[in-house]
Amino acid sequence: MVKIYAETSLTLVETLERWGIEIMRDENGKLSRIEEIPLWALCAYDLDILQKLRKLAKKNNVRMIDKTQSVELLTDGNTVTGAVGFDLTNGIFRIFTAKATVIANGSCNWMATNMWYSGRGDGVAAAYRAGAELRNSEISNFYNIGLRGNMSSIVGGQYALYNAYGEYIPSKYCKEWEPDFDINIFLGMEKEVMEGRGPILFEETEIFVKNPIAAGGFLFKWDRKWAGKFWGMLMAKEERFSSDEGWRPEVIPLFIGEMGAVSVDHNMKGTLQGMWALGDACKAGSGFCGATPPPCRLRGSGLTWAGVSSILAEKSLAEYTASASAPVVHEEQIVRFKEELFSPMQRKTGMSPREGIRMLQEVITPPRYSIRKSEKRMKESLEVIDKVYDLVKNEISPQEDFHMLGLYHDLRNMTYCSEIYMKTALERKETRGWHIREDYPVQDDRNWRKWITAKLENGTLKLSTEDIPFEKYKYNP
Ligand SMILES: Cc1cc2nc3c(=O)[nH]c(=O)nc-3n(C[C@H](O)[C@H](O)[C@H](O)COP(=O)(O)OP(=O)(O)OC[C@H]3O[C@@H](n4cnc5c(N)ncnc54)[C@H](O)[C@@H]3O)c2cc1C
Repeated sequence: MVKIYAETSLTLVETLERWGIEIMRDENGKLSRIEEIPLWALCAYDLDILQKLRKLAKKNNVRMIDKTQSVELLTDGNTVTGAVGFDLTNGIFRIFTAKATVIANGSCNWMATNMWYSGRGDGVAAAYRAGAELRNSEISNFYNIGLRGNMSSIVGGQYALYNAYGEYIPSKYCKEWEPDFDINIFLGMEKEVMEGRGPILFEETEIFVKNPIAAGGFLFKWDRKWAGKFWGMLMAKEERFSSDEGWRPEVIPLFIGEMGAVSVDHNMKGTLQGMWALGDACKAGSGFCGATPPPCRLRGSGLTWAGVSSILAEKSLAEYTASASAPVVHEEQIVRFKEELFSPMQRKTGMSPREGIRMLQEVITPPRYSIRKSEKRMKESLEVIDKVYDLVKNEISPQEDFHMLGLYHDLRNMTYCSEIYMKTALERKETRGWHIREDYPVQDDRNWRKWITAKLENGTLKLSTEDIPFEKYKYNP
């Protein structure tokens, strides 16, 4: 998959340029790339891309329905036949029937870190509830290094870190010139603190010197109007509201998440008929990245994957839609979904969804749950997740506000994602790349060169393993 991804990225460049998106090019017309990063290169466009694409879609008569949160997928046996949701502004129930349904609503980030707020696992959990398989859930989350004073992430900051005694720590814990975060830097940061050499401090002046990700000026190499405005405003805000004014501010492991585990084939087709998944929602599920170190496990998913996966889906989607018969819709399913969707509104008072989200964050985001794992702590986490399921069912109240009803459903979806993430991590009894088990510290190739698949069967999460098709790979890991 990673080979297909790389090859198709050039088709994406051509497609975007045909649609009027400016991709940064040098004076000779060649793609302007940052090539100093080991193992991969970076290209760029400006941040107004979505506005331009939206205009283009409108011009081509694509119908859009805004402010609507989709909640459940409609099914006819093993075929997805559409979705239902509601308007966040006024609570109007909406039914979408379709021959083909595409999940493209991002990953699950548990609302832990600013800017990674929007991915709440809605599509991942809805696909799972409809009976679709998920893959690689246990290895789909990652961390960044963040400034403690304002929770902003310092992309590639691992090569500018010092302990409280002024010792340079990256060389102790990670290899030089890594193209992205090495999980060992987070383990190292924790070790330094636990052994009394904390806090860990960040030396801003070194980020462009020692940091391969920042090589060649990184984000600021290009003259991009919208990106310049965005970064300027963001940095000014972060500086103004930082609670840490130190010359070398303190840094922490910053949970990002990005669990996007909808299992798809090379055409982005899911395991249910009539259902496709794109972008962040299926990053881990496509198998293009694993638990392994870079280049196969480069942080999150990425804008290019969102575009490339769309191109990969195009042909099979069009062919299926042309030949499929009209979707079969079951009235009683719609009635049940409507009732379930709005039933929390009957609880006029009660616990806020935010309380439930906070409970999940506390057992998912700390490094002791998601960087280094153990059976004992994962079971601890699962106990809390069970409590949250119960609260979602009986206590959490949207307090008569449709936006809060949206947050209620987000919480419900995050609870599903939490359970799936922890149970699959518990199942993988080995250490591999970003999946570190204290109780199984060795990589076990004999038993675990496999994908773990999660599926909802008769209301219970069922785990199984899938053989990885190494025989089809040109390059074998
Ligand atoms: C701070 C930040 C910086 C990043 N920097 C880079 C970078 O420099 N380069 C790079 O390549 N990638 C970067 N990424 C990653 C990149 O943004 C994502 O990989 C990409 O946006 C994924 O696209 P997507 O369409 O799959 O999902 P998204 O962009 O997450 O879009 C999903 C959409 O679905 C909507 N949605 C969610 N739930 C529902 C629902 N229930 N019903 C209806 N709609 C719903 C959301 O509002 C959103 O509009 C960054 C991400 C973040 C957060």
